[in-house]
Amino acid sequence: MAHLLLLSSPLSISLCFFAWLQGFLVVHGNTNLTHSSFTPINRDLYHSSGDLMEEIKALVFRHPDRLTFDTIKSRNKGYSAEIAVVTYCRRSQETDDRPKFRILLSFGQHGRELITSELALRILSILSKEQFLPNLDPASLDHTLDKLLIKMVPMENINGRRIVEAGDLCERRNGRGVDLNRNWSVDWGKKEKDYDPYEENPGTAPFSEPETQIMRKVAMSFDPHIWVNIHSGMEALFMPYDHKNTTPDGVSSHQMKSLLEELNHLHCQRRCMIGSGGGSVGLNNQLNCAGG
Ligand SMILES: [Zn+2]
Repeated sequence: MAHLLLLSSPLSISLCFFAWLQGFLVVHGNTNLTHSSFTPINRDLYHSSGDLMEEIKALVFRHPDRLTFDTIKSRNKGYSAEIAVVTYCRRSQETDDRPKFRILLSFGQHGRELITSELALRILSILSKEQFLPNLDPASLDHTLDKLLIKMVPMENINGRRIVEAGDLCERRNGRGVDLNRNWSVDWGKKEKDYDPYEENPGTAPFSEPETQIMRKVAMSFDPHIWVNIHSGMEALFMPYDHKNTTPDGVSSHQMKSLLEELNHLHCQRRCMIGSGGGSVGLNNQLNCAGG
């Protein structure tokens, strides 16, 4: 599966859902990390992983009419992982047989990208109407949300994040040193010229990692129309494929690119890079403590 941003089919829904999503990313797109293992995480800016998940769980339980919480576990060769999945479906208690547009949002695939899971909490707060966005008409938002079924993975890599929280602030991999964004089957193990074996360890085989297995299971059962994988460290709206300098051919790919360009124009003041990660910015050259 490709990196950063994956939209799996043509789109025709309102863009307002993405307005606040991208708006928040633009404002808060950079983590505040440094390479020093002695720099503490600023708790005024970031929850601990435990506190954040407890807040999300409590928020979900306050809104059973629209939010549900599940935990999925997996294990491989003595290494275990679990991932929380929150499902949003407005009016879930009412009769509504119209098919919904399915969106999967995943955050925190890289341990050090703390800001992304904070964004997950904020989006859930808005979906539950505990927070509101300025300049966004609630009725318009409701109209869009009525058409959506959203699954959210607030913290994909909690084991890696715990390593960061223990002081290794630059760790992006999972709890046993595998880059979850290189553990999928698309060109698995293919090494680019600037391949970094430490940062981009793909694991022993495609889907060797419990976290990747869980995400595959979620994606296959949910079958999303759109999948947005949120990272931090740069202002960009990437589409497949990060490891190539090209984007796929075909109508869907062109529609995806048009959508991203429109988002960039409407909500990013055209600052975001668009295209494949490799083609737009040479992603592998951009890997640093905060990005990738
Ligand atoms: Zn990342």
